[in-house]
Amino acid sequence: MKVGVLALQGDFREHLATLSRLGADASEVKTVEQLRAVHALVIPGGESTTISKLAIAFGLMEPIREAIKSGFPVYGSCAGMILLSKTILDPASGQESFGGIDISVRRNAFGRQVDSFESDLTIAGISGEPVRAIFIRAPWVESASEDVKVLASVTIDGTSHPVAVQQGRALATSFHPEISGDDRIHRFFLEEICQRAVGK
Ligand code: GLN
Repeated sequence: MKVGVLALQGDFREHLATLSRLGADASEVKTVEQLRAVHALVIPGGESTTISKLAIAFGLMEPIREAIKSGFPVYGSCAGMILLSKTILDPASGQESFGGIDISVRRNAFGRQVDSFESDLTIAGISGEPVRAIFIRAPWVESASEDVKVLASVTIDGTSHPVAVQQGRALATSFHPEISGDDRIHRFFLEEICQRAVGK
């Protein structure tokens, strides 16, 4: 199975390195032709406004939307989660999302003091030690439809905010496993979502 990483902006190289380390056939996606050559797509962390504008400029917005609608496995980290959301509560002007997960997200949700932080998270479906999660100007999920599985949450001031969610073949995390050296989220995506999609 070939896994593409949307390579318009952001930390796509780290996702490519993680996927390759796990033995996946991973390649950059910058064009519609490259999108057609893969069976799953990872959307990296970075700046969701920039990725959205570049996706429109490169003619990738609609093809990616269509692919996700037709059941293409997708995983988004941080900006990638924003881009997989149905609703961005505070979009920049002209910012759009691909959709795929029935959530509304708040960008830069953790506020200035805790702009960037790390936390040990217990994530449904990931066994062993808690996952060391790195959050960098991260979004959180503000609301989710009942079809969305919340895999992990962070509690701030007594309120729990989902930071890892799955709906069918779409997975998203507010944090960046691609830079932590812990490959378990990518392994979960490859084994539980991508391989199941092709019926292995
Ligand atoms: N704050 C960024 C955005 O709104 C996301 C940051 C990240 O991907 N680390 O897109």
